[in-house]
Amino acid sequence: MKIIVQKFGGTSVAGLERMKQVKAKVEKKLKKGYKVVVVLSAMAGETDRLIKLAMEFSKKPDPSEMDVLLTTGEQVSVALFSMLLKDAGIKARSLLGFQIPIHTDKAYGKARILDIDTEKLIELLKTNDVLVVAGFQGCDFQQNLTTLGRGGSDTSAVALAAALNAEICEIYTDVDGVYTTDPNVCSNARKLPKIAYDEMLEMASMGAKVLQIRSVEFAKKYNVPIHVRSTFSDEPGTLVVKEDEVMESVLVSGIAYDKDQARITLTEVYDEPGVAAAIFEPLAAHNIVVDMIVQNPSHEGRTDITFTVSRKEMDDAIKIIDRIKDEIGAKEVLYDKNVAKVSVIGVGMRNHSGVAAIAFRTLKSENINILMISTSEIKISCLIEEKYTELAVRTLHEAFGLDKEPQMESL
Ligand code: ADP
Ligand code: ASP
Ligand code: MG
Repeated sequence: MKIIVQKFGGTSVAGLERMKQVKAKVEKKLKKGYKVVVVLSAMAGETDRLIKLAMEFSKKPDPSEMDVLLTTGEQVSVALFSMLLKDAGIKARSLLGFQIPIHTDKAYGKARILDIDTEKLIELLKTNDVLVVAGFQGCDFQQNLTTLGRGGSDTSAVALAAALNAEICEIYTDVDGVYTTDPNVCSNARKLPKIAYDEMLEMASMGAKVLQIRSVEFAKKYNVPIHVRSTFSDEPGTLVVKEDEVMESVLVSGIAYDKDQARITLTEVYDEPGVAAAIFEPLAAHNIVVDMIVQNPSHEGRTDITFTVSRKEMDDAIKIIDRIKDEIGAKEVLYDKNVAKVSVIGVGMRNHSGVAAIAFRTLKSENINILMISTSEIKISCLIEEKYTELAVRTLHEAFGLDKEPQMESL
């Protein structure tokens, strides 16, 4: 059985006319002899609408009820699209996450997929040509509904492709591929024909929402090729695949930005063993992801520790910190929500020096102050004031010549 997974994002399923275009994409693969597993998102804006609605009913909605609410967005899409297919005489049916089941842990709102029962899917593919699966959702082992975090339909699609051993996972969206940076911010961003899993992982973790991070983690782990492309054209998009030599010879392949950042500083904590653990253990226990961490040099046995978290989690993080503040001797807990992170990414950096220096000099040329820095072997990230985000992205994009075809060994 030749299986292909096709995922369509919110804009691709927003209304009848768009769903007809989706149907055409599915029919094209059926003609080529594939069984198609279609993964759909909620219609554009629907998840946001539901979140707003919940906030009208509750200041802090119960996370498990929130997931019951949010899964309805995708439920609408799969039901309507299945009707379209059936009316066209295509053997198809809709499937919600819990019907498969797609099992996840219990982390409501950001659950992780633990396993997918493929037996039922394979059985259903014998009598159906298309299975229309609701993205972004699963259930825990007690049948409680869960969601996978914003953008989670990408992860549903790649996880299904891995579990079903599909030939490829196509991610159809409103841009025609992965660009050197967000094409909606930088008009001369260039479409990349190919990108390595590791680069895509960094791009996604640094804020490029074209693919959810966990989808790329799955793809890398199970070696699933991803093709990111447009629902509204037939142009080939971007292949996300294993690294090759050509990719390594390109120094910088993209710039990403993330405005979902907040900075927290604990001043004058005791500089002694166990203090960092006392801060970060309770945050981890509450599933709060900490990104950048900086500890200042010690002064008279005291030090400042600064770290960043998602803006959405800042209030929770501060509440947790307040509980341990006295134990670690912190004088003040300062915070700032008006920050953003810009990142320069490329596997070519592994074998070259000087990229960080160019990035810092470029930010200086626009008088943009760097608040924090973090690096990995293929990435340099700078935390800056949020108001400079777009300027920083465009200036770095130009400084690394990303609007032009790649220069090999350009340093
Ligand atoms: P979908 O609803 O189809 O899942 P998303 O809005 O989640 O679509 O992701 C597509 C968006 O990702 C694009 O509209 C674009 O603004 C944004 N984006 C950010 N960085 C990039 C990038 N490097 N390449 C392409 N798109 C990007
Ligand atoms: N509907 C969800 C969201 O808006 C999941 C997705 O579209 O991937 O985040
Ligand atoms: Mg998305």
